[in-house]
Amino acid sequence: MAKNKNKLSIFTYFKRHKFVVCLYVFINIFAAASTVGITFSTAQAVAFLTHASYSLAITYFLVAFGFGLLQRIFWFCSDIIYDKYSVVILSEINLDLSKQAFKLNSETYANHDSGTFIQRIVNDPKDAIESLSDIVVMITEIISDFVMLVYIAMLNWIIGLIILVTVILCVIWEMFRNKVHHRYAKEVKKTNEKINSLTTQIVASEKDIKSISLEDKLSEVSKEYYDQHKKAYIKSNVVDALFFNSRNLLIEIAGVICMVLGVILVEKSLIVLASFIIIYSYHGHLYGFIWQLGNVWSKLTSIKINNERIFMLFDENFFITEKFGDKEVAITDGEIEFKNVSYTYKDYEVVSKDEKGKRIKQPYKKLVSSTKVFEDLNFKIKKNTTVAFVGQSGSGKSTLLSLMSKMYQVDGGEVLLDGVNINELSKHSLRNAISLVNQFPYIFDMTIKENLLLAKKDATDEEINQALKDAAIYDFVQTLNKGVDTKLGENGIKLSGGQKQRIAIARALLRNTSIILFDESTSSLDNFAQESIKESIDKLKGKSTIVIVAHRLSTIKDADVIYFLDKGEIVDSGSFDELFKKNQKFKTMFLAENI
Ligand code: ADP
Ligand code: MG
Repeated sequence: MAKNKNKLSIFTYFKRHKFVVCLYVFINIFAAASTVGITFSTAQAVAFLTHASYSLAITYFLVAFGFGLLQRIFWFCSDIIYDKYSVVILSEINLDLSKQAFKLNSETYANHDSGTFIQRIVNDPKDAIESLSDIVVMITEIISDFVMLVYIAMLNWIIGLIILVTVILCVIWEMFRNKVHHRYAKEVKKTNEKINSLTTQIVASEKDIKSISLEDKLSEVSKEYYDQHKKAYIKSNVVDALFFNSRNLLIEIAGVICMVLGVILVEKSLIVLASFIIIYSYHGHLYGFIWQLGNVWSKLTSIKINNERIFMLFDENFFITEKFGDKEVAITDGEIEFKNVSYTYKDYEVVSKDEKGKRIKQPYKKLVSSTKVFEDLNFKIKKNTTVAFVGQSGSGKSTLLSLMSKMYQVDGGEVLLDGVNINELSKHSLRNAISLVNQFPYIFDMTIKENLLLAKKDATDEEINQALKDAAIYDFVQTLNKGVDTKLGENGIKLSGGQKQRIAIARALLRNTSIILFDESTSSLDNFAQESIKESIDKLKGKSTIVIVAHRLSTIKDADVIYFLDKGEIVDSGSFDELFKKNQKFKTMFLAENI
């Protein structure tokens, strides 16, 4: 896929359908040319009518009718092509963008809200395609209006001059309007993005909102965002209306002058009646010409904005993709080593305006804050052992697992799997080596079986049942009417927190990787369920390397080695009994939890 300067754009996708796009353009040109035909033949027909040449008048009326019919047919074909290919092209763009979204790294996701992605992947491409098709129609109309205007201008030089001056003034006016419009349109998009993101979050956190009564506060935030949107929208539209109406006034005035002039010219027999009728149509053509010219301009601006925003997703400066090596190695032992590892979280903000609020040409990223988590961290986990990391909240446990699975990339030092630097491993080798069960796993709105098949698409029913048994959720699944074919709702809404965790564990177990990471994976479980998961983890013992992160110390009693983490440093390590004996803090933590 093209990157950075090798720029991908909406036009790349249109080029793939060159033939159809050209056909669409030609059909629209023919449709527009029909307008010229209709105008000329109608003018002739009316002129013959006034001279009582009825048969000629009828002939010209019929010709006009013929052009009208042709135009309808062209428009119909144009609609059909648009309806079919706009969807085809749009889905190609959407698909590529979704694929790109999969490639982005976790840091990028942490630095952007969900609204950003929804807007850029779904809404912006749709807007852009619609605008492009509009432009084709507009340009063809502009051409036909232009032809008519040139004809009218040639009838009389004074009328020609008036038309020329009006067009020049209107174009300058439009250029100015566009500059202002561009600025406001971007603001409108941005506020829209914020609303999208907030709405997504509100929908996802509905229970939290109710449980701690966040309705009022969130309504306030919503109101603030909608107000910002409203303000930007109104500003954009009021300014637009102002420009629009003043420009139209200019056209009206020019129209009246031309009309009066036309009457005088007919009176003095300087032009024939048919020419006057065409001059009479001047108003419509000039109006259409300027109107469409302005529209094309603003559509082009909107396409430019959308294009920039959409394909920014491919810009490594702002949306960073995951990088993999090309070493295709089967990590069979599952030995993990951290060598002098350091890691700092960095929060960036995209700066697109200068201090005065003016848009800058090249937006850039600015570091807003950073949190150092690890510096010079060293440890080694032997193959097929069970190791635990304990420590207070915020001590770096989850970050450690993210580095181990390369969700985040170390700033310094190395993470080695079976002695190979994790950065050198191919995507395939890395992903097949490690499974990570998150603290808050995401369960898809599919059936239980489908959720598990995501992990291993050719898993047999036996394997699925075994994984469910090992994750201590099999009995629960049996109580459901539809068993493994029960749908779980978005993010497993139909499950309890503990059940979700167990489905996630089953999902991970199915992958059968040599390393399995559990991040507080039993935190939502009651003692009974926790005990059964402990049993299944015990079953894995000696077969896979298991890393457990837990704040409940009772869950990791049987770990071979426990590392005690404090503010990103390993302050102690040993078996449970050893730590219990030698580390007062560890002992206090354990006793506090078992009161
Ligand atoms: P634990 O899992 O032990 O509770 P974490 O590894 O989640 O701790 O966090 C370690 C530190 O990193 C904390 O100080 C936390 O605030 C910070 N942190 C975690 N995630 C991010 C992030 N995406 N951006 C910035 N700081 C983060
Ligand atoms: Mg954590």
